[in-house]
Amino acid sequence: MSSRRGFLSRLALLGAGVAASPLVLGEVLKKKKSIARNVKPIVISTWDHGVAANDAAMQALKSGGDALDMAEKGVYNTESDLKNLSVGLGGLPDRDGITTLDASIMDYKHRAGSVACVSGYAHPISIARGVLEKTPHAMLVGEGAEQFAASLKFEKSSYTNPEAQKAWKEWLKTSEYKPIINIENHDTIGLLAQDSKGQLAGACTTSGLAFKMHGRVGDSPIIGAGLYVDNEIGAATCTGLGETVIRSCTSFLVVELMRQGASPQEACEEAIKRLYANNSFMTDEYQVGVLALRADGEFGAFGLRKGFTYAICQNGQNELREAKSLI
Ligand code: ASP
Repeated sequence: MSSRRGFLSRLALLGAGVAASPLVLGEVLKKKKSIARNVKPIVISTWDHGVAANDAAMQALKSGGDALDMAEKGVYNTESDLKNLSVGLGGLPDRDGITTLDASIMDYKHRAGSVACVSGYAHPISIARGVLEKTPHAMLVGEGAEQFAASLKFEKSSYTNPEAQKAWKEWLKTSEYKPIINIENHDTIGLLAQDSKGQLAGACTTSGLAFKMHGRVGDSPIIGAGLYVDNEIGAATCTGLGETVIRSCTSFLVVELMRQGASPQEACEEAIKRLYANNSFMTDEYQVGVLALRADGEFGAFGLRKGFTYAICQNGQNELREAKSLI
């Protein structure tokens, strides 16, 4: 009996603990200064192709769209470039010669949609938006994602990029399976947008690592890894060797660091340092780049290595910059 009483009182204590912890968390966060909301539209996106994507995002806003439309239409522009070897159907294939695409999108209502390992559709970002808006799910993969795209009446495409096929045939000569990313064989587009109401959204789309194993999924469609948006705080996106980003939940970490008071630049730098430390067992060189946009319009960018470029569009200016890097 007494042991039963002991058990019940321990249970009550446990219950009190469970009930108390969200309050404690709330108290901690209340101490942080609230972030003023910027209402001047701003778009930031990865790599050189970000310049055109930013223009497309701003155009979506001018046509009456919101942050979600900016995010989708911005990266849709990159997916439409069939010469692009790292985004969309023109992207380098996997080691079986099939181009498979990953994409994700997240909005200011904390809704998220993503697709992975999709082939035969030119705009995985629109399928991802379909997942966000029209399903109770957050992620669809492979055949299921393609069936869903067909149900939305998205047009199928059998396009293959001759340049990508040529590169694959060249790779087949050695078939060296070395899943190491470098500046030449990656270039995801990750884009973060804020509309004129101050609402945030983000999108990320890629053909992933060149000559990857069939079925390999990178960070880009993984919410919290390649993309994360919390409208109260800010948004982040990543590019680079997805395995390292997945292992470190880098986009989520950047947003959480901003929540704790770090500036977007500090958050990007800390997250890259953490990623590099977490992946210290890696012996080959790899690149990762991260972008952050805070709700007050301040942004940050940082690369693991030199060469990470990003495009920033604000106050009527759209320019390409190179991020500072750890190495
Ligand atoms: N992050 C992408 C992936 O690992 C590649 C990239 O950024 O280029 O699939």
